[in-house]
Amino acid sequence: MHTEYFIVDKDQPDKQTMQRAAELLKQGKLVAFPTETVYGLGANGLDSQAVSNIYQAKGRPSDNPLILHIANQQELIPLVTEIPANAQVLMDKYWPGPLTVVFKRTNIVPDIVSGGLGTVAVRLPASTVACELIALAGIPIAAPSANTSGRPSPTSAQAVLADLDGRIDAIIDAGICDIGVESTVVDCTTPVPTLLRPGGITLEMLMDTLGEVEIDPALNGGTQCIPRSPGMKYTHYAPAAPMILFEGTYPHIADLILKEIETALAAGQKVGVIVSEETAERLPATVVSAVYGLRQHTEEIAANLYTALRSFDDSPVDIIYAEGIPEEGLGLAVMNRLRKASGYKIIKE
Ligand code: AMP
Ligand code: MG
Repeated sequence: MHTEYFIVDKDQPDKQTMQRAAELLKQGKLVAFPTETVYGLGANGLDSQAVSNIYQAKGRPSDNPLILHIANQQELIPLVTEIPANAQVLMDKYWPGPLTVVFKRTNIVPDIVSGGLGTVAVRLPASTVACELIALAGIPIAAPSANTSGRPSPTSAQAVLADLDGRIDAIIDAGICDIGVESTVVDCTTPVPTLLRPGGITLEMLMDTLGEVEIDPALNGGTQCIPRSPGMKYTHYAPAAPMILFEGTYPHIADLILKEIETALAAGQKVGVIVSEETAERLPATVVSAVYGLRQHTEEIAANLYTALRSFDDSPVDIIYAEGIPEEGLGLAVMNRLRKASGYKIIKE
């Protein structure tokens, strides 16, 4: 399959190009597009065949449900049986934006979208390109991250093409995504809203708005717990080589990483690292490094995370060591992704 390539301006996308992409979606085709979080792989969310093509292109397990993307709050109404008060508060405050809310679903949502669950996850993105595309298509757009299942999510059109060129009908390139980690997923079907995936809207923001938020135990429990969000149980975001995550406070964490590097180099291994600028200054020259920013700059770290994880795709390292950061603000989402990327191979200070 030939993948059509559209380039548009992030803030003022060309109308004709957007119409063409929306037309493809209406025809049941697969179109990758940028959002403020990561690039999504879109299809008509009410068309089972189109949605099944998403699973096929990504190699995604069929019980891992998809998020439906809408262009305004009215489009939510036919998809859900009720809008709980807590959900309305969240939507008013954080939509459009990087927040996905889980509702009880109606029958117009195909089973394949919700992985057989009685619920549906919905988001109203803030990105101009995403919003215009969904509005022009006039249908809810199912859109998981536009990567091969298990790989790091794409934050650029080039990263999408590295995984999906020739497997999808089109891609809209509007440059790099602002936030760089996926949306926060909150289940509002429980009496107290439950955080299923940390993301662009932080736990602190949710606590501030709602007063009370439960954290799904599977978020902290690695692979032992039974996940409520099916996506939690799969290996995710994995770079090309095995990765070990280091957790602890600075500068001890850097000392620990440097010691491990020394041992690995002495054993003849080629070592890659994902580290802060502070730690990068202390690295031996033979190490392949991806630097994600200053430790305090959590937003910058989130924005650089997936590019760092993908940076070893073409440089054959034997092992990757990653430096953890504090779980504050976007740090919670960053650490959630790093733990999964490491397959929970973690060394604590
Ligand atoms: P992705 O599409 O790659 O951004 O991942 C979407 C995430 O949302 C996955 O972790 C899914 O398991 C989760 N998700 C989607 N729909 C639901 C739902 N109805 N209930 C719980 N989690 C969901
Ligand atoms: Mg994904």
